[in-house]
Amino acid sequence: MNPKSKIKKRLVVLGAGESGVGTTILGKKEGFEVFVSDKGTITDHYKNVLINFEIEWEEGQHTEAKILNADLVMKSPGIPDTVPLVKKLKEKKIPVISEIEFASGYTQATVVGITGSNGKTTTTMLTNHILKEGGLNVGMAGNIGDSFAQMVAASDKENFVLEISSFQLDGIVDFKPHIAIITNITPDHLDRYDNKFENYIASKFRIAMNQTEEDYLIYDADDKVITEWLQSHPVKSKLLPFSVEKEIENGAYLKENNIIINIANEQFTMPADTLALEGKHNIKNTMAASTAAQLLQIRKQTIRESLENFHGVEHRLEKVLKIFNVQYINDSKATNVNATFYALDSMTVPTIWIVGGQDKGNDYTPLLPLVREKVKAIICLGIDNTKIVKSFGNIVDLVVETTDMDEAVRMAYKIAERNEAVLLSPACASFDLFENYEDRGRQFKAAIRKL
Ligand code: ADP
Repeated sequence: MNPKSKIKKRLVVLGAGESGVGTTILGKKEGFEVFVSDKGTITDHYKNVLINFEIEWEEGQHTEAKILNADLVMKSPGIPDTVPLVKKLKEKKIPVISEIEFASGYTQATVVGITGSNGKTTTTMLTNHILKEGGLNVGMAGNIGDSFAQMVAASDKENFVLEISSFQLDGIVDFKPHIAIITNITPDHLDRYDNKFENYIASKFRIAMNQTEEDYLIYDADDKVITEWLQSHPVKSKLLPFSVEKEIENGAYLKENNIIINIANEQFTMPADTLALEGKHNIKNTMAASTAAQLLQIRKQTIRESLENFHGVEHRLEKVLKIFNVQYINDSKATNVNATFYALDSMTVPTIWIVGGQDKGNDYTPLLPLVREKVKAIICLGIDNTKIVKSFGNIVDLVVETTDMDEAVRMAYKIAERNEAVLLSPACASFDLFENYEDRGRQFKAAIRKL
């Protein structure tokens, strides 16, 4: 017997959030000596988990002597590659990987991996819903709910549906989803990619880098960024595009308001107007999720029923209440212009639009035609609204400003008339006035209920 086999390998985890703590649990279960280090403060919830699992941890610092002796390091997605500690680890040739990479080594499950700039959560939840209704043993993880690592440690599943950010993909080596979905690619998080859009695109496409001819890549064929990239950077996997603009021979498309999916001469059809989710972007998300479900042999009738009874996702075009025939809609998760574009595109009645927050270098030009056509009044909800006022002040009669959610909703209530809508779709991050987008969405809903 090799005596070395008794020596435990040292796994160091940087960052004690959901993915970090999940990794420590799985690492411990798999026999690693585990240490977790967080430069900030660890929440009480995660501290209790670490104590329960008897995992050594530190907070408020990174003790290099306890980190640079690692055999393997898992870096949480929030920590950039450029921090000195990560650079030192790389100089010492210590592998630094992501949680998705680590966890995927300990499961044989079939993985559906979903990435993209917008629509990840919706598509992930929808795919998970259809597979569950179809009777598969499935777990949903990634950027959503519990971490993948923790789920693998707790109860291995036969299938996983994973929401995957580009930061997670930056840290993969062997990770290979059997089915990969790229919902769309628009500029986001460029500060982490040397301000180069091509670096961000390359990061998203890492989802397909280990795929073989046996695997599938589902993607938006109407997205030029994706199609042009694929032309110059071919992948090995079988391509299953979807489109709302043109017919697709092998993949999904929209014809006379019917969704049609063709895979290897098998056809699935469903009328788009019976879908529970509204909006063109959700037709795309539905096509992606249903293509994956069809690949996994879910019965067509089950797919249809699941698409009709899906409840939608909080803060994403979420219908809150109708008051005096005015529909209030919470799209707080729209933190960029592209997401808001689809929200406005889906509006069918005159809209009072609540917009604003922390600007991420937004270019509002793509919204101009939609705003001209659909928006009756703008309520700016942010500390600095200069750009919004400048972009839309000339085309919308009424533009008002506030820094208070209750006031914003009261203003909307006064302006809105019967058969109109009030839409919170900020196109901006929330951190100037709120803790996060969930807090913003919840405050919006609470303010509506107070009316
Ligand atoms: P993600 O997890 O990628 O942030 P979400 O499903 O949470 O995506 O949706 C984020 C925002 O983008 C919401 O405002 C939602 O209405 C909008 N959205 C959802 N799907 C798409 C899509 N396919 N294209 C553009 N916007 C979308």
